[in-house]
Amino acid sequence: MPAPTIAGVSSPPTGGARLLRVDPLSPDRAAISEAAAVLRSGGLVAFPTETVYGLGARADDAAAVTRVFAAKGRPADNPLIVHVAGVDDLGRLAAALPPLAIELATRFWPGPLTLVVDAAPGIPEVTVGGLSTVAVRVPAHPVALALLAAAGVPVAAPSANRSGRPSPTAAAHVIADLGDRIDVVVDGGPCRVGVESTVVDARAAVPVVLREGAVSREQLGLPDGDPGAGEDAAGSPGTRHRHYAPRCAVEIAPPGGGPARADALARVGRKVGLVAPVPAGGDVLHLAAYADARELATALYGALRSAEEAGMDVVVIESVEPVGLGRAVMDRIRRAAAG
Ligand code: AMP
Ligand code: MG
Repeated sequence: MPAPTIAGVSSPPTGGARLLRVDPLSPDRAAISEAAAVLRSGGLVAFPTETVYGLGARADDAAAVTRVFAAKGRPADNPLIVHVAGVDDLGRLAAALPPLAIELATRFWPGPLTLVVDAAPGIPEVTVGGLSTVAVRVPAHPVALALLAAAGVPVAAPSANRSGRPSPTAAAHVIADLGDRIDVVVDGGPCRVGVESTVVDARAAVPVVLREGAVSREQLGLPDGDPGAGEDAAGSPGTRHRHYAPRCAVEIAPPGGGPARADALARVGRKVGLVAPVPAGGDVLHLAAYADARELATALYGALRSAEEAGMDVVVIESVEPVGLGRAVMDRIRRAAAG
């Protein structure tokens, strides 16, 4: 994939945020230093991770974190994930390091697994939503890692969308939702994974999944059943709130489409693959023709946003089997449909 390698300010309107374009694999040092300086001085910086774009603020600065909640319109009881550059930083944020947390961090970091542990004293209450625990992860993205290393502070970063909207998987999505409310957008291209991290409570002997995500139960060595996690896991405040909903209706069709597919085809007259451009003027976008859950995950949020931009009334999504990554994908689709 050819990527722009020159960091700089772009001409398209950003709503006021400074846009820094960087090579996703080898980000420009000057651009990263500039974004890191904004973070350190209490500013808001959106940046790419392997899951979705995050909206970062220094986690130890209550005023900066308060601005994150305001920019997103995020409920105050929904704590933020603190992003750090390496496993060592976990020790500074946690009151104690449970063996399971060390084991999971070693196995999955950098990666899309968020660990909930007892919080060390001194982390602002606003960052952890008033809880006594803190959620921490090391993202697997060269831009995110370079930015975290340059900032040298833990960075609280929820998804960089207005609360309730589909998460952003490209810089354009961030600008559409938050361009007039934040200081910097670091554009490192599209996100590889496309759904958020898995959140687990790492304080017991076995991980307890608080939010399904990019690391599957299978990868965590957990049984396939569904104890605890899902629609309203009490342990993860964020799963209580409205989420992922575009400004058009979302319908779920069975794999292969079933009757809903026939209905959708009759209404739109054609079937649209996920990677195809969305036609303007139709009333139904039918999402199908993806190879597997991974491909659907990567494209899902962008497709929901494209559908609303194209003026679709309905998006019909063919479901995937709720196993592995498919479990998290179907969780997001169900929430988008409920929105
Ligand atoms: P987001 O950053 O928007 O992907 O949301 C972060 C998710 O992590 C939300 O579902 C939060 O409720 C969850 N989370 C963050 N901190 C904690 C914590 N200390 N305990 C449980 N869940 C948490
Ligand atoms: Mg979010």
